[in-house]
Amino acid sequence: MEGLAVENLVVKYGNVTAVRGISFDVKPGMLTTLLGPSGCGKTTTLRCIAGLEKADSGSISYDDTVLSGERQHVPPNKRQFNMVFQSYAIWPHMSVFDNVAYSLRIRKENKETTKEKVRKALGTVGLAQFEDRYGTELSGGQQQRVAVARAIVSSPKLLLFDEPLSNLDASLREQLRIEMVAIQRELGITAVYVTHDQLEAMSMSDEIILMRDGVIEQQGSPSDLYKSP
Ligand code: ADP
Repeated sequence: MEGLAVENLVVKYGNVTAVRGISFDVKPGMLTTLLGPSGCGKTTTLRCIAGLEKADSGSISYDDTVLSGERQHVPPNKRQFNMVFQSYAIWPHMSVFDNVAYSLRIRKENKETTKEKVRKALGTVGLAQFEDRYGTELSGGQQQRVAVARAIVSSPKLLLFDEPLSNLDASLREQLRIEMVAIQRELGITAVYVTHDQLEAMSMSDEIILMRDGVIEQQGSPSDLYKSP
């Protein structure tokens, strides 16, 4: 199957079973949201997809290649998945350009290609004029746009969002949500988005996975889940 497949995933921290055998698919180009209250296992699932946590049992595959399994663990940097975090995690004392170029330089991409890709990514997030600014000179919303540019610049197979808007005020949150969905659609990047905010999930998702206590309680399109009885 093309895209992401999570099958019977179980993740434990010592005695705590954070994820109790969940299964779902994310088809290419789709945005799937993991929704649910604090502690239900959303972030653990996302970190496991990223390769930052190991699966205790079950599997995670992409385009039929197993990335996480009982005896298989492809490291995060070999998955071609990029993540956008709640706190911006941009380097404050590096320019916007250098922040976005960082991962390409690590991969020894050539200078001209790097410049081209970084400028394209900054254009996509509306920060073309800001490449020489420093992290410390940016607003919270601008910093989060840099984080999005950094995540898309290397053309990842999958974008992973971990509550990327929860540090922003309400109006900025709505604006950035609209921008992020537009970018995800325009680029056709497959995405998994974690939030505890039902309205956010409803307004942006192709599919919602509603979690509770480490299991999936319901799953479907926003209209499937929230149509009036
Ligand atoms: P959510 O993202 O939905 O808030 P998490 O995936 O962060 O939920 O947490 C799921 C469960 O796993 C919670 O009971 C949490 O306390 C526990 N947990 C998460 N991370 C760790 C950890 N590093 N060590 C121990 N327990 C953890």
